[in-house]
Amino acid sequence: MRSPAVQSLAVLGSTGSIGVSTLDVVARHPERFRVHALAAQRDVEGIFAQCMRLGPPVVALADAQAAGRLEAKIRAAGLGCEVQAGARAIERLAAHPAVDTVVAAIVGAAGLRSTLAAARAGKKILLANKESLVMAGELMMDTLRSSGAMLLPVDSEHSAIFQALPRGYAGDPQAAGVRRLLLTASGGPFRLLRADQLGAVTPEQACAHPKWVMGRKISVDSATLMNKGLEV
Ligand code: NDP
Repeated sequence: MRSPAVQSLAVLGSTGSIGVSTLDVVARHPERFRVHALAAQRDVEGIFAQCMRLGPPVVALADAQAAGRLEAKIRAAGLGCEVQAGARAIERLAAHPAVDTVVAAIVGAAGLRSTLAAARAGKKILLANKESLVMAGELMMDTLRSSGAMLLPVDSEHSAIFQALPRGYAGDPQAAGVRRLLLTASGGPFRLLRADQLGAVTPEQACAHPKWVMGRKISVDSATLMNKGLEV
């Protein structure tokens, strides 16, 4: 039996920037976290290395061919890890009874269904995939309320605001004495360019953030300020 102090995690998007950082935190705190499940799209080598390191009981890849290749590697390595394939499998992992906490770090719209599955199953959700709230905020919040799931923001701006709000904050800024919430933006790699220079920039330049190493989508969203829009 596992100790109640140890949280059992499903890390969805484990091979991405947030997923890798999450597993780094997990590795530093084995007394607090255990990985039950990992999921990604098709990075066989990345998730295989994570399986070797962490030995999760189950992993899933959305891409069925990649899942087949992963299964062959896992069998050859003698690991006792079950490999599942497809988006539905990832949803099932998000709702699995052995999972307490779901790290929702699949990028973009692809993260919606598994995040919703975790919400329906009443999990504690560590939300990096803010896109799911942008796409389906009302559905997500209704589902959270009716299942008793808990949503905790991982995205740094949301996490900072969450931590700054008073205890017991119930969604009414005025009642809580909050006048304004401000989000800041740097402009990332393009912060020193003039508007007339932006027409010639490339995706590679957009992904070369001067401070953060992030996935390509959020890097482009950050450089174009679309990410600020999603945060708002
Ligand atoms: P990455 O591109 O680095 O990683 C994306 C992850 O999602 C990978 O594990 C990828 O798997 C997986 N994935 C992609 N498509 C699918 C799919 N169809 N089914 C299952 N898994 C899929 O993204 P980030 O880590 O940068 O971003 C993840 C989320 O976190 C985004 O919603 C982003 O907005 C948010 N976020 C990220 C921050 C950051 O610092 N990176 C900061 C704040 C928020 P594979 O590797 O196999 O393709």
